[in-house]
Amino acid sequence: ATGPGRSPREVATHCPYCALQCGMVLREDAGAVTVLPRQFPTNRGGLCQKGWTAAELLDHPERLTTPLLRDPETGELRPATWAAALDRIATGIRAIQREAGRDAVAVFGGGGLTNEKAYALGKFARVALRTRHIDYNGRFCMSSAAAAGLRAFGVDRGLPFPLADLARADTLLLVGANPAETMPPMVRWLNEQRRNGGRLIVVDPRATATARQADLHLQPLPGTDLAVANALLHIALTEGWIDQAYVAERTTGFPVVRRSVAAWWPARAEQLSGVPVADLEATARALGTAGRAIILTARGAEQHAKGVDTVTAYVNLALALGLPGRPGSGYGCLTGQGNGQGGREHGQKADQLPGYRRIDDPAAREHVAGVWGVPADELPGPGVPATELLDSLGTPGGPRALLVFGSNPVVSAPRASHVERRLRGLDLLVVADLLLSETAALADVVLPTAQWAEEDGTMTNLEGRVLRRRALRPPPPGVRTDLAILADLATRLAAAEPAGAARPAATAAARFPTDPATVFAELRRASAGGPADYAGISWSRIDTADGVFWPCPTEDGPDTPRLFTERFATPDGRARFHPVDHRPAAEPVCADYPLHFTTGRVLAQYQSGTQTRRVDALRRAAPDAFVELHPDLAARLGIDDGDPVRVTSRRGDMRAPARLSPTIRPDTVFAPFHWAGPARANSVTNDAVDPISGMPEFKICAVRVEKA
Ligand code: SF4
Repeated sequence: ATGPGRSPREVATHCPYCALQCGMVLREDAGAVTVLPRQFPTNRGGLCQKGWTAAELLDHPERLTTPLLRDPETGELRPATWAAALDRIATGIRAIQREAGRDAVAVFGGGGLTNEKAYALGKFARVALRTRHIDYNGRFCMSSAAAAGLRAFGVDRGLPFPLADLARADTLLLVGANPAETMPPMVRWLNEQRRNGGRLIVVDPRATATARQADLHLQPLPGTDLAVANALLHIALTEGWIDQAYVAERTTGFPVVRRSVAAWWPARAEQLSGVPVADLEATARALGTAGRAIILTARGAEQHAKGVDTVTAYVNLALALGLPGRPGSGYGCLTGQGNGQGGREHGQKADQLPGYRRIDDPAAREHVAGVWGVPADELPGPGVPATELLDSLGTPGGPRALLVFGSNPVVSAPRASHVERRLRGLDLLVVADLLLSETAALADVVLPTAQWAEEDGTMTNLEGRVLRRRALRPPPPGVRTDLAILADLATRLAAAEPAGAARPAATAAARFPTDPATVFAELRRASAGGPADYAGISWSRIDTADGVFWPCPTEDGPDTPRLFTERFATPDGRARFHPVDHRPAAEPVCADYPLHFTTGRVLAQYQSGTQTRRVDALRRAAPDAFVELHPDLAARLGIDDGDPVRVTSRRGDMRAPARLSPTIRPDTVFAPFHWAGPARANSVTNDAVDPISGMPEFKICAVRVEKA
């Protein structure tokens, strides 16, 4: 990067959006910022539309540049000073906590926050607020794969190998993943894999842009991916494709799984999923006879009330075939949000402390409390997952105040109308964001925050590679960084502590530094010795390499691009099989709601759309929501392409134009979830959750469809 005072200025950084974290250069010339691609191992010079247009938000006219306070008389949000806004928050929090206890205040974070901000937010909740209630929107993203990875491998890192391994796989199985739309530069790796003679097989209820490129597309009924995986393992067993030596030496628990999949003969799986036996056999053969094979899952497999078991079924398959830990082979999960991986490693998750430590582990509590300079017995215990937390807001005994950083649950949470009602019932809702999101619009206090090109920090991408995000310019006047906001709030909260319980405000300020490099140095100490060990990762080390893979315990020792080569992160070093079985969706179809509803993403929008719906080129490319229907279903319902339709579930409805496509099953309708208002897909979705991960069932519920 060039230094200040040079013109034009350039800085090497990464895209603000998804977990691929494509490398890019930002150039500022006479105030105008342009994006240039750069070579980085994940994107190799490629960017998608979202990355190309990311700089448009820096000077966007809707950018928030002053705090907003809700006027108690008019009910409107009005500009306010920082002092007034922060005082309102601190006095409100302390009044609520005095009356209803520490846990009456909750924090909701985001998977787009840098590692430093995620770490500071977790510490703020546990040390400044001393509440157990913190969770984040990553719970909606890949918590099922995280839980499945933890119980099988003893650690959860999205890809336990570099992305480049994909090109070496003879067979690549993608389950519920559509990188052609969600991470287009990743398709280069898929193309290279096939140029090398590899086979690409996609499991998806829709013939997505990725599925259409595949050598084989399995199109199961939504919610039956687990049965497909068990049938594949059944076939592999029958055909003798199990890696017996690997299973014997590196795993435990296989006999029980072998017995459990014995009942999943292919014809039974076909009957349930609709995937022909011949396709199941071809897939099993492609995996079982490959020299190198990789199985990847994403939201399609994970966002179910049985998401952990579904991912586990694919992990079982990978273990039985002897894939994890071998170059060009393995199991991995494609993380979605930019820092979905790092965001959950450093304390935003209800049950975790920095370094991916369990908050109920006494040794972990001692270690982290020591770094934070507080008694371990003062650290709160585990909180509850995001959906449960949001559902408890404003209820008797539930939190009465919520602080939201970098998230928009009014659009992204399941059963969103209910979440909206819960938020409206709070005594105090605070939202820190760069734009007035739909959640911010409900807040009592809105705090304008810096965005990605205005502050330094680190992100951890889908490979577990820690990389540098570099500031091009400072935030505009009136805007503060999240770290500065947390430091200021901590100081005010300490000053407002009840007499006798007070920690000096000066101590609070020292405890929450505003400089991201200082925060990262502390994060390294807090994570040291944990599963996600960042102790040996310095910013300068990242600068001299294309990122550093965790775990990396020492500065002069190696990092870990590939996990599990010798042993798994379990006490005995062996991976663990778990028997899992199919169970129906939480909400089966019925006469009143006869169709399956599933949600997903489109190329030109990102997550709740707060940012991308405001970018001109993206808005032109994907201006509105739609409801995708098979032409046969549309004909039966008397719906033409473009007709306004209403999708109704037991929880609410959404309205959007029909888009007819033969690429979807006739028993299923699809809508993207990026839009708000009447087109909000999450008004319809089911908030039933996985009992282990807390992941909501975004991918299937029962609906009826009619012309609106
Ligand atoms: Fe790359 Fe993802 Fe950004 Fe697109 S949104 S440029 S795929 S990081």
